[in-house]
Amino acid sequence: MSRNILIISPHLDDAALSLSQHILYWLAKGDTVTIATLFTRGSVEQQTLYTARKAEDLEAAAKLGATSIYLNFLDAPFRFLEPISYTNILSWPTQPSIEEAVMKELTTILHSHQFDTILAPLGVGNHVDHRVAFNAAHALSYKQTLYYEERPYAIVPEHIQMRTGEPVSFDASFWERYWSTGYISSFSEQKDHKNIMELYEKEGTRAEQPKLVRHSSMHNHKLAQQSLAVVSLYKTQTPALYPHPQEFQDLYLNTPETLWILQAHDNPLMQNNCRVEKI
Ligand SMILES: [Zn+2]
Repeated sequence: MSRNILIISPHLDDAALSLSQHILYWLAKGDTVTIATLFTRGSVEQQTLYTARKAEDLEAAAKLGATSIYLNFLDAPFRFLEPISYTNILSWPTQPSIEEAVMKELTTILHSHQFDTILAPLGVGNHVDHRVAFNAAHALSYKQTLYYEERPYAIVPEHIQMRTGEPVSFDASFWERYWSTGYISSFSEQKDHKNIMELYEKEGTRAEQPKLVRHSSMHNHKLAQQSLAVVSLYKTQTPALYPHPQEFQDLYLNTPETLWILQAHDNPLMQNNCRVEKI
């Protein structure tokens, strides 16, 4: 039976960057996929960049065969008074007013389209807009909600542990690997180091988050090659997100895309044992 699937994408790239194999698989078996992107607007000065980002996102969606909806919320760097920095993006609060506004828009979309399943970002890597998207999807408690590991943030396995409540420790070898990870080396500066280390120590021991369990993983060589081609369309983003070619290739060609689910969530996908590992 074909399904109507909604993917919540915080930015103009997250769904394609994180779920291209799943999207290609679902569309090939007759499902429909809609991507609702939340934070699609920058400042007036940044209009050219955001127009270019929307154009490459539309091209990627067309190559995948998915439909796009843009919700036009202001991207994080333009919602806060403090200057943009790696530390600020990871530590800014999620703001209840933004979460409520996102929930309201998503509720309208869910009511008008009869979706069977929604995919929401897990919040891997702590980006404030990704945490807003996770919180909004979690609060909506839609009948079938799965959470996806976002890329490139999932390159650091500890990021996933931090979101899913698994024990995690940050020793010297972790920090060496962390600061040399491609996207982190692009966006962080020396002045971020101390604050990020303190934030991770605090977040790594956080206990109140909802408990999530692994639902399924997908890796298929042919789909992986197609996903790499789709991700490469994001020309304004990939040079900074993936400055190391080997890391980029490994992530998209050799690493499964993994979905998570709230523990004990009443989800028909789980009841029907409709797993997607073997394709
Ligand atoms: Zn994002």
